[in-house]
Amino acid sequence: MAHQPIQKLVIVGGGTAGWMAATSLKHSYPHLQVTLVESSEIGTIGVGEATIPTIRRFYAQLGLTDEDVMRKTQATCKLGIQFNGWLQENSSFIHPFGSYGEALNGVPFHHYWLKQRETDAATALEEYCVAVQLARHHRFSLPPTNPQSSLSVFDWALHLDAGLFASMLKEHGIANGVECIDAKVERVDTVLENGFIRALHLDNKRCVEGELFLDCSGFRGVLIEQTLKTGYQDWSHWLLCDSAVVAQSELEGEPAPYTQANAREAGWQWKIPLQHRQGNGLVYSRAHQSDEEAENELRANIGEPLLHAPRILRFVPGMRNKAWNKNCIALGLAAGFFEPIESTNIALIETAIEKIKLLLPDTSMQVALRDEFNLRIQKEYESVRDFVLLHYCLNQRQGKFWQDYRDISLPESLTHRMALFKANGLLPRQRHEIFQPNSWLALFDGCRYYPSSYDASIRQFPDTMINRGLSTMRERIMGAVQKSPSHTEFLRRCLS
Ligand SMILES: Cc1cc2nc3c(=O)[nH]c(=O)nc-3n(C[C@H](O)[C@H](O)[C@H](O)COP(=O)(O)OP(=O)(O)OC[C@H]3O[C@@H](n4cnc5c(N)ncnc54)[C@H](O)[C@@H]3O)c2cc1C
Repeated sequence: MAHQPIQKLVIVGGGTAGWMAATSLKHSYPHLQVTLVESSEIGTIGVGEATIPTIRRFYAQLGLTDEDVMRKTQATCKLGIQFNGWLQENSSFIHPFGSYGEALNGVPFHHYWLKQRETDAATALEEYCVAVQLARHHRFSLPPTNPQSSLSVFDWALHLDAGLFASMLKEHGIANGVECIDAKVERVDTVLENGFIRALHLDNKRCVEGELFLDCSGFRGVLIEQTLKTGYQDWSHWLLCDSAVVAQSELEGEPAPYTQANAREAGWQWKIPLQHRQGNGLVYSRAHQSDEEAENELRANIGEPLLHAPRILRFVPGMRNKAWNKNCIALGLAAGFFEPIESTNIALIETAIEKIKLLLPDTSMQVALRDEFNLRIQKEYESVRDFVLLHYCLNQRQGKFWQDYRDISLPESLTHRMALFKANGLLPRQRHEIFQPNSWLALFDGCRYYPSSYDASIRQFPDTMINRGLSTMRERIMGAVQKSPSHTEFLRRCLS
């Protein structure tokens, strides 16, 4: 007998994860009955304001335009992240949402650049990336829809107000038929024979039954952990930060079109400019810095007045043993967490929603679909973990925290990738990864980690020819940058 399609989807949690899942799944499966339970008494985490470009694809699928979202969430544009002081106290680089240079003769651009680095004519990698140059000059314009060459290719994301973003999605979800219940889950009924979740008992005396449950309840993991005891892979031996102190402040000058991540004594501090205020947070390791020291360091590095008293958040870096267990799938903070250095957490919610759509089970909850989902999530999280670790492991800074990072025994997956790049500049492309070769290149360059060789086929080209080609690329990029308005001017035109 054919199995029945899922008809009742129940989501616990009305933060970014819950509302992204509710809106997106209701949009794709209009006949699905979607019920979302959230607790205004518990509230949401209220952070998560820097995104990567996938967010724009996410809301475009719902029929929302960039202008709609930017207006409703007080957003500004983001071309990448500026890392200050990570390698050494005075170093700085930008990880852009964009590519570097143009490939020639089928050989990626960076090999030519590496060859030039061996000569007196060496130039900086960032001169070949239009996104970095726009960011450095505080300019912004939309990427060309039909780029003539890869030199003009870049992407962009948003800095947005997390509370306003969740409210916007909630409004959209409810207008499209998502049922929202404001109540606390008090008790969860499971089926005796197989441990599957059957129903939620709420503190308003309602009982909500479902076939598939999404746990978007944040760090609590009300279903995935408190009920199903799924277990967690704790990665704190690799990722030392376990706390953040956060505060909003008034904007310092005109908003920059990038996030700032500034290295500090025992962690790093973000600055996220919105239209109406600035988001700030210091991510730190409690083993290396007390809460009080962290708060003082945060305050010392942002302009007064703060718009509220600083809040402290704790976390354990890592991920659930299984994001999908029985008939429950965890998303967002309930599934796992990385420090937000690369703004990956919301992106991981998006990619998990895409996987749910691809592997949507019927009421029999096919094991093969579940296993495939968990495998893909595991690989994706591990790859983000490695990318985050790379920011730290090559540092040359003073201080115990930074020294401890130098002494960490790295995962084999990361040492292998570093060895490939070291050997001859190889940047493998893996389908499941959020960060593609250009991102790894930006980071290797930011860490001054270079290969000992490059693609042998370009040895035949004389230096003069390579210099001429690279010089033309730099001129074309700067020409495009000079034609672009300032970020502030772009926002004014876009939002008027
Ligand atoms: C310090 C910090 C900075 C971050 N910065 C970024 C960033 O810049 N970019 C990025 O992409 N991500 C960032 N993140 C991650 C991002 O904030 C989250 O991924 C995102 O907000 C999703 O959160 P959530 O919806 O999973 O959880 P939450 O926002 O915590 O929502 C949980 C929901 O579950 C509900 N709930 C809980 N228990 C119950 C119950 N018993 N009954 C009913 N409802 C319940 C709550 O009321 C709430 O609605 C950051 C996280 C932290 C900690």
